[in-house]
Amino acid sequence: MGCLVQKYGGTSVGDVERIRNVARRALKARAAGHDVVLVVSAMAGETNRLLGLVRAVTPTPNEREQDVVVATGEQVAVGLVALAIQAEGGEATSFLAHQVRIVTDAVHGKARIQHIDAGALAQTLRAGRVAVVAGFQGTDDEGNITTLGRGGSDTTAVALAAALGAEACEIYTDVLGVYTADPNICPSARKLSRISYEEMLELASLGAKVLQIRSVEFAMKYRVPLWVKSSFSEDPGTLVCAEDAAMEQVVVSGIAHDRNQARITLRDVPDNPGVASRIFGALSDRHIEVDIIVQTAAREGRADLSFTVNKPDLAAAREVMASLVGELGITSVESDGQIAKVSIVGVGMRNHAGVAARMFRVLAAEGINIQMISTSEIKVSCVVDEKYTELAVRSLHTEFGLDAAASEGIRG
Ligand code: ASP
Ligand code: MG
Repeated sequence: MGCLVQKYGGTSVGDVERIRNVARRALKARAAGHDVVLVVSAMAGETNRLLGLVRAVTPTPNEREQDVVVATGEQVAVGLVALAIQAEGGEATSFLAHQVRIVTDAVHGKARIQHIDAGALAQTLRAGRVAVVAGFQGTDDEGNITTLGRGGSDTTAVALAAALGAEACEIYTDVLGVYTADPNICPSARKLSRISYEEMLELASLGAKVLQIRSVEFAMKYRVPLWVKSSFSEDPGTLVCAEDAAMEQVVVSGIAHDRNQARITLRDVPDNPGVASRIFGALSDRHIEVDIIVQTAAREGRADLSFTVNKPDLAAAREVMASLVGELGITSVESDGQIAKVSIVGVGMRNHAGVAARMFRVLAAEGINIQMISTSEIKVSCVVDEKYTELAVRSLHTEFGLDAAASEGIRG
């Protein structure tokens, strides 16, 4: 039997009893004949506590030092998990990122993994020991501690699974798997037994918080079968895997929503070559991610340009725009932090017509105004007033036949 990578999130290692539960699960996989690598996040709430300490010292922390502080949560967790495995009679060794050598670029706070030397891990596995690896952290070429962005342990796990040629990567969390919508706001949401990488990628980037986006990208690129499971249940969870014919029969497989976005609108942007490049280049220089971009058709050489950024980046994005106002002759910079992006996702959209029109009809029937629209082959997103989030998600869930009772047996 091959190698299995299991990732346990913060709630799964939230207290000592839960840490023992993780140790027992790891030993069970070991007893079944797998080489076992665990990737562990900081105990629930710990990363936020550490960030709070940093903010209490300074509102504008140096990013290198912030990473030094926030990466410690995972160090505590791997040590405790390794000890718990030993206490259960098993053998385990903990690893920090620099001990494995998970090498990233030097962009503190959102570093990207560049390569992994899995040699030390492979040796530990050959010796029959469980390797317990700190998620979320990396080391740059110069040995500085980096972190991969919030939720980054998922990416650590999948990248390790790819590097080790693992047979699967299991992401253990506090929900049973991937749902058709967020059950907290859509009571009729149900767990999917399978979903394609592409759909999962859309759902993750559209605000379904089960998996970090980068982890799904890695899994898709290296074809790592990815399971999302609960550490508190024996439920098989959701398998994220390559698309097949059965998946294409379902038009919409999930509804996502994202309240973490804000919109900026620039009035009277000159309609000249190089202007968009100037605006979005300036944002990218500050590492500000932009999502939806909409430009109106120009009139008298000027157009309006709207785009969305993550809410925490709004102030910085406004600052960048303010610095361009004079240079570009923009007449005003407006922003709205009270928006939500609601999206329908499904590989089945490729061969079904009229899906977007159906979405717009549902929103219109509920009196919900659409502020921005964006589409891809397998998704349609609408930006709406934040106060309509629940209503929009529930109505679309019903319209596309995803409600628990309506769709039994289709894909559940
Ligand atoms: N501990 C980190 C966080 O809270 C990484 C993770 O949980 O994956 O974001
Ligand atoms: Mg987490």
